[in-house]
Amino acid sequence: MKLLNLDNVVCLSPHPDDTEFSLAGTALKYYDTTFFVMCLTKGGAPGFDNSNENFNRRDEVNNYWNELGVENVIVKHSDCDYLTDKTEPEWINYIENIFFTKESFKEKVNTGLMIPTYEDSMFEHRFVSQLGHGLIRSYPISLIEYRTVSTLTDWNPNLIVNVTSEYIRKVDAMKCFESQDNKTFFKETLLEQFHTDYRMSRRGIRYCEQFKILENFV
Ligand SMILES: [Zn+2]
Repeated sequence: MKLLNLDNVVCLSPHPDDTEFSLAGTALKYYDTTFFVMCLTKGGAPGFDNSNENFNRRDEVNNYWNELGVENVIVKHSDCDYLTDKTEPEWINYIENIFFTKESFKEKVNTGLMIPTYEDSMFEHRFVSQLGHGLIRSYPISLIEYRTVSTLTDWNPNLIVNVTSEYIRKVDAMKCFESQDNKTFFKETLLEQFHTDYRMSRRGIRYCEQFKILENFV
């Protein structure tokens, strides 16, 4: 089964764990879609969070997907430690050269790009979200926002993925993010709250991941 009939989806992670936290259940569910997890940094902004210095958070991402043992997820890490290491046009050029070249669109592949929400209290999530429209300007790439832990309540999803069957696998593997062990949003209760929504619960959907389609090409 493919997500929205997409063959490939490139997921931009501002930090290690963003893609995993927000959409791992969807990647598990839609195993006929290939998800390229593009981890842009080693974690955090320079000087803000020492947990980024004491752990190799890039390895945590690799360990997470290895633990899940899925074949439809390919992890890539950028050549930068921090988002400030490249300017906005440099990031667009860099990502484009890896994923969105003339060559890569020769064969008819339905491609999507997932970005964090722009309505987000985390400034680096907003920065990466802004790369989206620039990256899809030359090719028919569907653009989809994924809800993060810091997405604001102004934001409204228009695509809900029921991940009830995938939830336990997704959450169990979260232990691979050892550096985040003391973070509140990695605690069981908050994980549960992130994946539940009363509007979905009343429809019988226990756990979900939330997205907003900005552009979709069929
Ligand atoms: Zn983040």
